[in-house]
Amino acid sequence: MKLGANVSVAKTGLLRAVEESESYRADTYMIYTRSNRGGAARPIDQFHRDESWARMREVGIDDPVVHLSYLVNLASERAETLEYGRMVLREEIKRVEYLGFRYIVMHPGSHVGAGTAVGVARIAQGLNEILTGEEKLWICLETMAGDGSKVGNRLEEIAEIIELVTHKERLAVCIDTCHNYSAGYDIVNDFDGFLATFDDVIGLSRLKVAHINDSRHPFAAGKDRHANIGRGSLGVEALRRIVRHEALQDIPLILETPGGHYRHEIALLRGETDELPPESAAASDGGE
Ligand code: FE
Ligand code: ZN
Ligand code: FE
Repeated sequence: MKLGANVSVAKTGLLRAVEESESYRADTYMIYTRSNRGGAARPIDQFHRDESWARMREVGIDDPVVHLSYLVNLASERAETLEYGRMVLREEIKRVEYLGFRYIVMHPGSHVGAGTAVGVARIAQGLNEILTGEEKLWICLETMAGDGSKVGNRLEEIAEIIELVTHKERLAVCIDTCHNYSAGYDIVNDFDGFLATFDDVIGLSRLKVAHINDSRHPFAAGKDRHANIGRGSLGVEALRRIVRHEALQDIPLILETPGGHYRHEIALLRGETDELPPESAAASDGGE
């Protein structure tokens, strides 16, 4: 099991991310390389790549993930937004290749009223303009929580995007337990059924990253509000079953829960404690 959390790269870049991950006794981690409020990205050669990989090898932290800025929306109808999104994604591919990471997780996009079919087509077109097939990483489309203006609430929508992209060998998928449950996939009672559907619709070989979050809202609520592990509608037992599932043993499992209780929550998921973390105000991963 490779458990980790969404960690900071403030000041010392990856050195900070690794240090924070060590404090959680994590096996892996996820970062954002740039602010979700926009602005110029910090130069990637200031992230202390080589020292950090050396430290990661020493302490057994591996297979880190980058999450793309939320400001990227390849489904937008606004030319400026599209242009910005393409610029950031192109730049991010170069930055993440420099870091030597294998995954960029991205939200497929928001169609803002134009409808899912239009959104799917725009996202595929955007990816076709960017991907050359030479990338040394996978773009992992994240499954969404069921909000009507998002693309990617249903596995079929993700499959349609992949189908329309020329260099589909560079595409993969990131599931998010909060999102999937909220979108109406009953992964609490039937995670095997969900994976069987995933395999049918997309193919399990594309499952490369999973976000492990509890959900503030009940089943099928269509809302993206993450809760601390055991403090939401999924509960500890279901989330433990999920992180221990054989299909998820080789992929990074990343917590995006509020309040900074990652060390405790990772121990809880591993079964090292049964005590629940304190309850923190709900967070989203920016999907709203
Ligand atoms: Fe997520
Ligand atoms: Zn979320
Ligand atoms: Fe996300």
